[in-house]
Amino acid sequence: MRYTFLLFLLVLTDSLPAATPDLVKYVNTLQGTNSKHELTRGNTYPTTALPFGMNTWSPQTGRNGDGWKYQYFKKTIRGFQQAHQCSSWSNDYAVFSFMPVTGQLKVNEDERAAGFSHDNETAKPNYYKVKLDNGITTEMAPTERGAHLRFSFPANGSSYLVLDGYTKLSSVKIFPKERKIIGYVNNGHYVPDNFRNYFVAVFDKPFKSYGTWENRKNTVSAGAVELEGEGAGAYIEFKPGEQVQVKVTSSYISTEQAELTLKRELGNFKTLEATKAAAAEVWNRHLSRILVEGGTEEEKSTFYSCFFRASLFSRQFFEYDKDGKPCYYSAYDGKVHYGYMFTDTGFWDTFRAQFPLNTILYPTMHGRYMQAMLAAQEQCGWLPSWSFPGEGGSMIGNHAISLLTDAWVKGITTFDPEQALKAYLKEATNKGPWGPANGRHGWKEYFQLGYVPYPEYGEATAKTLEYAYDDFCGYQLAKATNKPFYEKIFARQMYNYKNVYDPSTGFMRGRNSKGEWKANFDPFEWGGPYTEGNAWHWQWSVFHDIQGLIGLMGGEKNFIAKLDSVFSEPNKVNVGTYGGMIHEMTEMVMANMGQYAHGNQPIQHMIYLYNYAGEPWKAQYHVREVMRKLYNSTENGYPGDEDQGQTSSWYVLSALGFYSVCPGTDQYVIGSPVFAKATITLEDGKKFVIEADNNNQQNVYIQSAKLNAEAYTANYIRHSDLTKGGILKLQMGSTPALNKGLNPEDRPFSLSANR
Ligand code: CA
Repeated sequence: MRYTFLLFLLVLTDSLPAATPDLVKYVNTLQGTNSKHELTRGNTYPTTALPFGMNTWSPQTGRNGDGWKYQYFKKTIRGFQQAHQCSSWSNDYAVFSFMPVTGQLKVNEDERAAGFSHDNETAKPNYYKVKLDNGITTEMAPTERGAHLRFSFPANGSSYLVLDGYTKLSSVKIFPKERKIIGYVNNGHYVPDNFRNYFVAVFDKPFKSYGTWENRKNTVSAGAVELEGEGAGAYIEFKPGEQVQVKVTSSYISTEQAELTLKRELGNFKTLEATKAAAAEVWNRHLSRILVEGGTEEEKSTFYSCFFRASLFSRQFFEYDKDGKPCYYSAYDGKVHYGYMFTDTGFWDTFRAQFPLNTILYPTMHGRYMQAMLAAQEQCGWLPSWSFPGEGGSMIGNHAISLLTDAWVKGITTFDPEQALKAYLKEATNKGPWGPANGRHGWKEYFQLGYVPYPEYGEATAKTLEYAYDDFCGYQLAKATNKPFYEKIFARQMYNYKNVYDPSTGFMRGRNSKGEWKANFDPFEWGGPYTEGNAWHWQWSVFHDIQGLIGLMGGEKNFIAKLDSVFSEPNKVNVGTYGGMIHEMTEMVMANMGQYAHGNQPIQHMIYLYNYAGEPWKAQYHVREVMRKLYNSTENGYPGDEDQGQTSSWYVLSALGFYSVCPGTDQYVIGSPVFAKATITLEDGKKFVIEADNNNQQNVYIQSAKLNAEAYTANYIRHSDLTKGGILKLQMGSTPALNKGLNPEDRPFSLSANR
């Protein structure tokens, strides 16, 4: 009898879904926030948001309009704002803020700022809380397009809440009886004149008094209920010592849409606790898509903090109408369309790892993104390269094609490849109206000479290298979808990287339209023909043809020696055309790993290149060193700008044991995983497990590998192996396995080797 009962219990327990583990506890949203103009440790802010959320919330330490919205070393908070862009360099858009005030009413952002201490701060994805030195506590919990906030004023003290309309045109309308404020702000980049962020805020306590104010003139109109103008804001007074909750959402479409979203996202939540708990559930489910075991608590904290940051993108820019259909305001043509739209990313950063991570974990969303890119192209005539949320054309390259091809070769075929190739050919043979990455700077010369000449064009060598890679992606998509017209065009261009390689110095260099190399070459010199880097950093941007690069550089021995030299050269800087130290230079010097500048994108894949030349163990060594030395879960947790999930995704993939060296192929190059076990749960529920027996901070070298119980010798793993589900089992050890992964067929994809 007793036995039967136990058995029954066992069966019952077994059939229950496993409880979602608490992984939110590992996330520190303050990771990387101790950043400033001269030196960034992530350039992040304590983002309170749901995964891919359209709106995020953050405390604000910087002045209105300052991209540095929250800096860890600052002593006061001046508001709690709806935020969007992740980086101070791109500043932000559609911002407005609330600030609780006690004592005399102070509306001005400097005067109302209140001191705070990090000891009184809780910073989690689903919940932010701070007790200000004046005794007011602010709490925030997010939904995808809104938030639940709570302000607790000190006993018997006066209770004011100031709404700040930020830097440009804004409008407020107060409804005292309904305990509601509606309005809009229109601060934004690269958007049509009709761009508005319509907000609605609903309070759970009656207003004692209220009024409007103007942040430009610092004037207050007590009792006024309506104002429109530059920096128009509102204030409300509640009874002394009040605790007040506000539900707030916004829409780029209309006030009615914002109200609809408020009902949909926050209607069921009576209290902030309920919103907070629901957000924790969403995050725990999300983060448990990668369950890591083993490793130290700090390694888990770093991993999940990075995974959190990577999961803020792709940022939604769509809403759901009354019938639940996705729709969006287009920042490209100023109209409302049905379908999905995304924003706030620069492909120059994120084509490398952030998008590839999404192809593994969120293929459905990624498929929608591909459609959204082509929709954007129809609306503005160009493929996006950097959305602010309209097209900015910042940085270099035409990496939309990398995203499209990467999706296609991984089975995410939601778009018309003919349309994609046609749009890409237009990019490659024109210069668009915006920045350098909108169409192509130097496209004619690139076609005629086979490279972009310098000094005729700035950053010309970097552009040549990235155009050649993008053309490979165009070729790859054309080949995969049987479009010989496009295949022929891009096949002619994809080896153009060879035209900027100077055999006499052994570096990728600037050359003018006559073919002459730039005089007075110094490989330590930044800028000029390079983007945010020097010759040491740009040597490796031949993602698609490392064997071709090895050939250019005189064979494997020379190639390996050059990779080694990146670490053994002094960490010195010649500021070159930058004219002074930029933060990326300072970060390289500080990392003290020679010329290895992990804090910026151009070199982030370099370590993995040892796998192409017969010394995979060096990749294993260096990748673990970089993860150990340059990342942690604190406010100083990144080696430079985080950049829209890219640097976080580098860490997430690397900690799993592989990296997307060449998006547009279906391979990930193997490094050395941090954890004893990592289980990736795919969208369809299948699981891919990476087990690393005997793994610890000394045993970083892979001795042998098995994929699904069969010996596995390749230095890469295929996307389809991940998505089929299975187990990659590694034996780790403290000494390099010098004879492993040397065979030509074990090496990752290279165009020259695979022709
Ligand atoms: Ca960067």
